[in-house]
Amino acid sequence: MKNILVTGGCGFIGSNFVKIILKDEPEYFPVILDSLTYAGNENNLNSLDSNSYDFIKGNICDEALVSELFEKYNFDGVFHFAAESHVDRSIDGPGAFINTNIIGTYTLLEISRKYFKKNNSGFKFIHVSTDEVYGALDDEGYFSETTPYDPSSPYSASKASSDHIARAWYRTFELPVIVTNCSNNYGPMQFPEKLIPLMIINCLGLKDLPVYGDGQNVRDWLFVDDHCNAIKKIYDSGVIGETYNIGGNNEIKNIDIVNTVCSILDDLKPKEDGKSYSAQIKFVKDRPGHDYRYAINAEKIQKELNWFPYESFETGIKKTIMWYLENETWWRMIQNKTYEQERLGENI
Ligand code: NAD
Repeated sequence: MKNILVTGGCGFIGSNFVKIILKDEPEYFPVILDSLTYAGNENNLNSLDSNSYDFIKGNICDEALVSELFEKYNFDGVFHFAAESHVDRSIDGPGAFINTNIIGTYTLLEISRKYFKKNNSGFKFIHVSTDEVYGALDDEGYFSETTPYDPSSPYSASKASSDHIARAWYRTFELPVIVTNCSNNYGPMQFPEKLIPLMIINCLGLKDLPVYGDGQNVRDWLFVDDHCNAIKKIYDSGVIGETYNIGGNNEIKNIDIVNTVCSILDDLKPKEDGKSYSAQIKFVKDRPGHDYRYAINAEKIQKELNWFPYESFETGIKKTIMWYLENETWWRMIQNKTYEQERLGENI
């Protein structure tokens, strides 16, 4: 068996990743390290065979714990998903972003470095990051792997910092690191603070659908399974020390996302009053420092690793909406415990 450390494996992308690994790679044994912040949810692991992975509740900043795990499991690889991940929360409270995203990543890299030196020639560290590190685009152009970093939010600045640290640990210490920068993900088990699940749940709760500013901001959307498969491919055949941009070539304005969610729900779960869910759309004060457009040039991973997204936005968004319709208990528990879709990151 290959033991792999999956940090943040109870979060949105991490839990989808573990699910895919267990389905496709029977020789891998995932060890999930997650501190279960508001965004971490053990229920995300419910569909998995509990003998097929270990879960450790703990913080990536905890040096003693992380060292102990490396000693116990002799990891073949680290898939580093754990992060504070929501831009609005980084406006309200940047401290947690600095700790987890920067110090936490440093802690993992430093322990990996010592471990790699002593133990394992096949070891690889996959650092999962975002396209937000590149800053904002106007109507033209795409982010490539060589686009200079220009982050706008405390979230993207903390991720940019962690990317630089990860690359430095490769260049200086020869730790086998690969950095990935991905566009906006969507799919099952995404915490409902993020645009798509927030809109689905607010539609169903007959609440306002808050659209920031004029709704013209553009994001490049990728179905979460496609991201996870890209990460797997990068681990298997990516070049050590390299960076890979991952994107779905699906540029969509926020307002169009919201209208799409509304019209799919109009078909799947029509409102009793016969009106469209789009009547609930409400334009609200914009996010401070809101980047206008993100768009990924994913040619490198397509050409070099033959990775392509499988899901189109049309198929992926339907699967996603169906999942939230079929898993109401999942999001009701979040509403009851931690989050009732309140506005975040508005006041500076
Ligand atoms: P998420 O917020 O859903 O999950 C993050 C997970 O990390 C949670 O389970 C949380 O409990 C855990 N965590 C947070 N701090 C921790 C700590 N100090 N120690 C241990 N665990 C901790 O995030 P996500 O959307 O799944 O994103 C995963 C990764 O992918 C992040 O690094 C994010 O920057 C990156 N990313 C996300 C997107 C996206 O659209 N969601 C796009 C590109 C890149």
